[in-house]
Amino acid sequence: MLKQYLALPGPTTVSPDVLQQMSMEMINHRGPEFAQLYENVVDNCRTLFQTKNDLYILTSSGTGAVEAAIVNTLSPGDSVLAVINGAFSQRFADIAKAYGARVTEYQGPWGEQADLNELEIILKGKIFKAILIVHCETSTAVLNPLQELAAMRDRLQPEALMLVDAVSSLGAAEMPVDKWRLDVVVTGSQKVLAAPPGLAMISFGERAWQAYEQAKMPKVYWDLGRYQQYSQLGQTPFTPALSLFKALEAASGKIVQEGLERSIARHRRITKIIRSGLKEQGLRLLCSDEAAATTVTAALTPESIDINVLIKHLREKHGLVLARGRGRLSESAFRIGHLGLVSEDDASYCLRLLAKGLSELT
Ligand SMILES: *Cc1c(COP(=O)(O)O)cnc(C)c1O
Repeated sequence: MLKQYLALPGPTTVSPDVLQQMSMEMINHRGPEFAQLYENVVDNCRTLFQTKNDLYILTSSGTGAVEAAIVNTLSPGDSVLAVINGAFSQRFADIAKAYGARVTEYQGPWGEQADLNELEIILKGKIFKAILIVHCETSTAVLNPLQELAAMRDRLQPEALMLVDAVSSLGAAEMPVDKWRLDVVVTGSQKVLAAPPGLAMISFGERAWQAYEQAKMPKVYWDLGRYQQYSQLGQTPFTPALSLFKALEAASGKIVQEGLERSIARHRRITKIIRSGLKEQGLRLLCSDEAAATTVTAALTPESIDINVLIKHLREKHGLVLARGRGRLSESAFRIGHLGLVSEDDASYCLRLLAKGLSELT
């Protein structure tokens, strides 16, 4: 069988020793071994989030934690600002709407960073209970100016909570949760952490807990109050995905060992290699170097090539698995994920396969 190179913005390749952890025998999730496992995973995640806040591991994909961020801090009718410039930020807003929040949508161009001047005008005009922002908008490969927006919140609306979807950036882009006063931050196991999909992490700060006391959105599985109670016993309220916890313990340990700074620097170097390689191949990138994410890159498919043909050809002939664009970009753009275990050599290999495939189709 042709060896597959998985260049998706999640799930990412998982290292063999992490995979092996998943073949361990089950343990009692209400016993001392799990308590130790839980503590190890939370400790590693706190290091990567750069936070002392409470942090919980949910058995769900990333979206579950995004939903948890909303229902644990808001009530129906609350005014929130959703910063939207792609498919994942639209989803964030849609979840808030589904639970009855009154959502003001800032709609920015797909492929560009959210515009701070426009956001400043919005923040000066209306009081919000929370601001919803996606750090890396994976659908367009843009990294949003989170630090600047958090500082603007401090200046213009210090009471507003920052709810941050960092699913595809945490561990690969600078984002010190405590220093930037990010009240709630979520990520998922299958992105930079390079564990299999199925676990999500959420950090929940003091101001978020104050909001929790007032929050009236319905919740049972996502109720962080329950997670808080059980965490004191070293447990989760519901049966955790034990095999995934073992994998996440190992995978998160690897990044902690590498060092967060070094992981971020590595992702930056690889982004440069990918972006300049794509440009050399004559491809147009969706966003500027300044706006670029460090985990995923989006490029427009050459006009002469059908995207379905390109993706199929690369997969079948070269074992290169790329992601297509999302939503309105699904027919025009493809995306290369370069996050997790990826090395400089991997990036060059991926570019070589792409160049081969493109030349065969032109
Ligand atoms: C991958 C991703 C998610 C979560 O997706 P799931 O499929 O639920 O894990 C959320 N937000 C962003 C920005 C993502 O990249």
